[in-house]
Amino acid sequence: MRAAIAADALGARTYMAVKGLFGHSGCTPVALAGYAAAFGNADPRDNWEVHFQDTCIGGGMINNQKLVEILCKNAPDRFKELESFGSLFDRDENQNYYQRQLGGHSYPRTCMSGDKTGGEVIRGLQCEILRREISVLADCVVLKVLKEEDRVVGCVAYGMKKGRFLVFRAKAIILASGGCGQVFKFCFAPYGKAGDANRMALEIGAELIDMELFQFHPTGYIAPESIAGQSISEGVRGDGGRLHNTKGERFMERYNPKQLELACRDFVSRCIYFEVKEGRGTKDGGVYLSLTHVPPKLIEERLPAMLDRALNYGIDVREEPMIVYPSSHYQNGGIVVDTNWETRVKNLFAAGESAGGVHGGNRLGSNSLPDLQVSGKIAGENAAGAALSGSFDKINMVNFGEELSRVEGELSDVVSGDNGINPLTVRNEIKNLSWDYVGIARNEEKLKHALDTIEEIKQNRMPRLSDIGRSFNVDFIEAMDVRSMVVCLEAMARAALVRKESRCGHFREDLPLPDKKWVANIIVSQDKDGRLVLKKRPIVKTILDPEEVEMPIFPTSGKIDG
Ligand SMILES: Cc1cc2nc3c(=O)[nH]c(=O)nc-3n(C[C@H](O)[C@H](O)[C@H](O)COP(=O)(O)OP(=O)(O)OC[C@H]3O[C@@H](n4cnc5c(N)ncnc54)[C@H](O)[C@@H]3O)c2cc1C
Repeated sequence: MRAAIAADALGARTYMAVKGLFGHSGCTPVALAGYAAAFGNADPRDNWEVHFQDTCIGGGMINNQKLVEILCKNAPDRFKELESFGSLFDRDENQNYYQRQLGGHSYPRTCMSGDKTGGEVIRGLQCEILRREISVLADCVVLKVLKEEDRVVGCVAYGMKKGRFLVFRAKAIILASGGCGQVFKFCFAPYGKAGDANRMALEIGAELIDMELFQFHPTGYIAPESIAGQSISEGVRGDGGRLHNTKGERFMERYNPKQLELACRDFVSRCIYFEVKEGRGTKDGGVYLSLTHVPPKLIEERLPAMLDRALNYGIDVREEPMIVYPSSHYQNGGIVVDTNWETRVKNLFAAGESAGGVHGGNRLGSNSLPDLQVSGKIAGENAAGAALSGSFDKINMVNFGEELSRVEGELSDVVSGDNGINPLTVRNEIKNLSWDYVGIARNEEKLKHALDTIEEIKQNRMPRLSDIGRSFNVDFIEAMDVRSMVVCLEAMARAALVRKESRCGHFREDLPLPDKKWVANIIVSQDKDGRLVLKKRPIVKTILDPEEVEMPIFPTSGKIDG
């Protein structure tokens, strides 16, 4: 949305295709805790440089520092601008933006609208899109980006309402379809987040970065079973929530007495993993997250959405703890971009969670919402620049009718099966496989098993439908989701096997320590036969030298003294 606004503002003819409904799909509407911007309202020592440092340390020092610098410098202006679009955010008694503390941030830096911040961000963006009369194609799933020689020329999409394939000519395209959270069994990400952008980018020659470094958020519900995997905002820990094991111990005192529950997400997730693994978890396989010591009024004011939701689930968090376990949350990696948020394919851009490199191995809480606004604006402006100055030469070389038939032909294997293979069955198999074998604790044996199974799925069990093309053919979308999920999971598993160390959310039980040799990125591309190719690449560093930074020491078991 931010990219479309920026492109429209420069006068480019702009279309947005959305898998689902405008403003009601994807992660942003459900984002909770807030938007990080170093205004320094709660502590005047805060500024973009501290934000930069926190982001890089939190990211395991493998972030692209050029991108981090742009993020931290621009986050405050993009936030203020959201209010000019129509969003409203909480203020303190001096009418400055209220800022809460989240994990890994040196100061309270997270601006918010209660614990419904994403919805408020979306509201402003929606108003601005409507004001500008930007064309929005809802229920329009982009399936493939088209390229002629070195640059993009358009894309093919599935129009859900009429059940038709559509072809678009475009001088520039921005992929902003978010990450691939749906790959995992327990996940916060809503249904459509299958990693389509990753797959489409790879298919036309762009690269992915650090796909193995997926973020597991420490506090998803694990019980009751019906809501397992659902999100609990980091704002709960920001506003005083404590973690306990079944022995009644506030176990973060043992792992990290300084930061306690507000250590970075990857760190806290690993601690919860050890508590449960070593027998100090509940019978459901979780630990307790408690707010019972926090004044009820504060919970009602600061965390109203979380409170409402918990009450709906039959849990009154003012009186009883929640039972939690890490859940998959955020794609730290993604499509490789430069400082224009352009990929290595000319005029193909990526923004938001689809783009990788900014957050390194672990995104700090509330650092995604600013990333969307900052990267969105830059990608939108550069895409508009490319479109307005570019010629139609390459586009005129393409016979789009033939192109459409070719893509339909490529998709025909989704429908050619006699007996049919239900996409939902395969989807669930992938989700279980990723959770059990490429999840929070990995090792060589598990990863090899995952890769063998992926290969077997690819050979024999990709979804096959009896037909496509009918209006709202959910099975077809499901089948295309599975295609994307398979590519993303394979990239993750291959990169996890290659990264011979533990760093951030990538915990190798067989290699539990970080290794200096791996202060590096892993880049994934696709060869002409569709095989994934991996290579190690040095990090982009500008200000901070990883050698000179003191990094948190992650636990390798629960037996920690002090
Ligand atoms: C429960 C939860 C809480 C969170 N809380 C916070 C928070 O407090 N602060 C923070 O900074 N971050 C938070 N995050 C993370 C943050 O919300 C996401 O990283 C961010 O919203 C992603 O934005 P995006 O624009 O990249 O993608 P999304 O907001 O997910 O939007 C992607 C859009 O692309 C569409 N799409 C997908 N595939 C296709 C396709 N093939 N064709 C066309 N359209 C497609 C989707 O339907 C969707 O509309 C949270 C995430 C979750 C799930």
